[in-house]
Amino acid sequence: MTTFNDFGLHADINRALAAKDYTVPTPIQMQAIPPLMKGRDLCGIAQTGTGKTAGFSLPSIHHLLTYPHRPTPRGCRMLVLAPTRELAAQIAQSCRDYGRFTKLSVSTVFGGVPINKQIRDLSGGVDILVATPGRLLDLIDQRALRLDDVEIFVLDEADQMMDMGFIHSLRRVAKLLPSRRQNLFFSATMPKEIAHLAEQFLNDPVTVSVTPQATTVEKIRQFATFVEQKEKQALLHSVVATQDIDRALIFTRTKHGADRVVRHLAGAGIKAMAIHGNKSQSQRTHALQAFRSGDIKLLVATDIAARGIDVSGVSHVINFEIPNVPEQYVHRIGRTARAGAEGMAISFIAPDERPYMKDIERVTRSKSEPMPLPENFNELVRNLPKPVAGPRDTGSQGRDPNRQRQDARRQASGGQPRGDRGPRRDAPAGDGAEGQRKRRFRPRSKSVGAHKGAVTRVG
Ligand code: AMP
Repeated sequence: MTTFNDFGLHADINRALAAKDYTVPTPIQMQAIPPLMKGRDLCGIAQTGTGKTAGFSLPSIHHLLTYPHRPTPRGCRMLVLAPTRELAAQIAQSCRDYGRFTKLSVSTVFGGVPINKQIRDLSGGVDILVATPGRLLDLIDQRALRLDDVEIFVLDEADQMMDMGFIHSLRRVAKLLPSRRQNLFFSATMPKEIAHLAEQFLNDPVTVSVTPQATTVEKIRQFATFVEQKEKQALLHSVVATQDIDRALIFTRTKHGADRVVRHLAGAGIKAMAIHGNKSQSQRTHALQAFRSGDIKLLVATDIAARGIDVSGVSHVINFEIPNVPEQYVHRIGRTARAGAEGMAISFIAPDERPYMKDIERVTRSKSEPMPLPENFNELVRNLPKPVAGPRDTGSQGRDPNRQRQDARRQASGGQPRGDRGPRRDAPAGDGAEGQRKRRFRPRSKSVGAHKGAVTRVG
């Protein structure tokens, strides 16, 4: 059996792997590490959860250690691009872990946080830079960063980058990179337009592919319940009360939908938090930490915010709304059943979502088992606790439910909570430059009325 010691990685890396108790490489690591150590380009078709981060960072760290030199001021030796802040932070943490016995420097830059500290961090140059595309280009435009000394370039979650509209940013980055470099390209899916993008970055690549979609789906027990859209909150309460949940990720299609689920759960005294593109960076980090640490069992997320998040022990994925793109479903349910564990996915299907579910079943070549509505469902619907009112769920999470109800009444007398604008695709959540342009400027005041005068920020 191949072990990490067989790869001939630098001793400091093997020490870090031993400290993390990694002995056996995952399939993607087995396939990717040897060609990467020879300096080959790589095209990897793999999802988060397969061990791809170690697959690309271990041989890259090996290269940086084997050819040691100081990074040039405002430069970086290895550049990793990721679509979301969460994924960027996670990759950077992995690089720090794998490089903990070395002197290599690792920096992360993403939007939604002040840029000045990032400018200072980069001034002396860094060995490994993990970035989201919009903020990376902002820093380049401000002459705080240059890419002409990049030796290794990694593009992670390329399909997600395309979905989020980063294609022009990626083309710009490609032009700024030096021609002599090693390229690594990862995507969970490889439709034609992604393959075309890969061609633009890669030079005679080795292609590796792990966990084809069908096998991922096979490990997960999938259930579907047909329910009216307006009765989904009651169904969720019932599922939360009856299922043996360690950690559940609940997916909605819209940011407002995610907040509304949190408010409904809070109305019944159930702690949950939401992550999506309208949340500040610190709120998102806080929610993820609470979910990881077990402080909250329920995390409500939009597709984009949840991509790439690696939290072990997710026992349930609940599709509160069905995605209209089948691949998105595969990404969602792939958050559970990690590392051989059994996972369960439950989809709430409203009448107008049935065609989406049909598409999903066709693409995944799997069929969900029916999960009937509970017998007392009508009663549950009638007695559904009122949601906690508020501009968002912000600040109301996990507080005393009585106090939340009082707040709700107080706020209700001051103005109506914001209605939903109906399903629409999420604005990019990954990045300052591209994501924020579409967001609304919100005054600091917590009163609901203050939101009425919201103005759209331009640029
Ligand atoms: P990734 O797909 O890179 O996000 O990795 C998924 C998870 O698997 C992370 O929590 C890693 O720390 C873990 N992991 C990666 N490679 C190994 C390995 N060879 N043995 C044990 N755990 C691993």
